[in-house]
Amino acid sequence: MKRREVIKNLSVLPVAGAVIGSALPFESAFPSAAVAPAAKRDIFRELGLRTFINAAGTYTAMTASIMHEEVREAWLASSKEFVILDEVQDKAGEKIAAMCHAEAATVTSGCYSAMLFGMAGVLTGNDPAKAAQLPDLTGMKSEVITQKSHNQGYIHALTLTGIKLVEVDSAQDVENAINEKTAMMFFMNYASPNGKIQDKEWVALGKKHNIPTMNDIAADVPPVENLWKYNDMGFDLVCISGGKGLCGPQSAGILMGRKDLIAAARLSAPPRAITIGRGMKVNKVIVSRDEFQERLRKGNPSIEVMGGSENSVNLTVFMLKPGQDKIVAARIQEEFRNASV
Ligand SMILES: *Cc1c(COP(=O)(O)O)cnc(C)c1O
Repeated sequence: MKRREVIKNLSVLPVAGAVIGSALPFESAFPSAAVAPAAKRDIFRELGLRTFINAAGTYTAMTASIMHEEVREAWLASSKEFVILDEVQDKAGEKIAAMCHAEAATVTSGCYSAMLFGMAGVLTGNDPAKAAQLPDLTGMKSEVITQKSHNQGYIHALTLTGIKLVEVDSAQDVENAINEKTAMMFFMNYASPNGKIQDKEWVALGKKHNIPTMNDIAADVPPVENLWKYNDMGFDLVCISGGKGLCGPQSAGILMGRKDLIAAARLSAPPRAITIGRGMKVNKVIVSRDEFQERLRKGNPSIEVMGGSENSVNLTVFMLKPGQDKIVAARIQEEFRNASV
């Protein structure tokens, strides 16, 4: 067979063909499912996906960056235990804050949710009832000032909270725009060359009027000094992507800054349920529920389970014939093991 045909044939194998021995009789496939090491898989080939040399940059659409080995190790190790999410945030936040010269920090699901949580924190303060009320801003401030050239796509993370943007051009515009409804002043780091007002002046204007300032530095590391530069400069909140220049998980980001604002921001973040940020979680290494269900379905023998809430499935046992409990258990174990490789 020519190489091209081999690749073609491999690429049309069903995804569940990845499950070891799905084409073999069950007995030979799972004689010792509990001890056999998972076979080396090539997930990209199984899915018929093209991988490439990334000479483009840290683009989300290209899966942004590759995690460093020590990150992967920490991530995999942490996927095997349960912990209280708020305790993880407390401890990880303290470490990050110390390294980045910030009073406090919290891990978010990307820079986008760092912006959203930070904005929410500024609006609600330390009031869970207000967090539950967003994006209805009744009784809260409702305007965010930004330079025209800084009003770009990602700013949707701010407007999602219900705020209105007020565009300015000059420092005088800022002075004119500030009123009792002004909640925050937003700065987008990479847009600085396009605006009249630079970072230090932006911070100074915020301080003069006692209005919190936020800097979105999503992809602006390296240089590594940027991790603390804008905290040192006096921005009240700094947002960064975990999966771009930081080379962490693409589902991660960091919000850092003033202690009171970080605490307030966390009121809108998972695990708290009645919030606009509830869906913005950072994952352990897991298969999502639907994919997991599909793999069990397409395996041999085919197994049906019911989808549960979020990342869970429900097993009902009273329809099982004697011995099938072991088969289901072995298949689930197999899937978990493959997922963690
Ligand atoms: C990528 C990017 C974001 C969003 O970051 P995520 O980590 O993908 O959520 C926000 N702002 C800017 C300027 C960006 O480049």
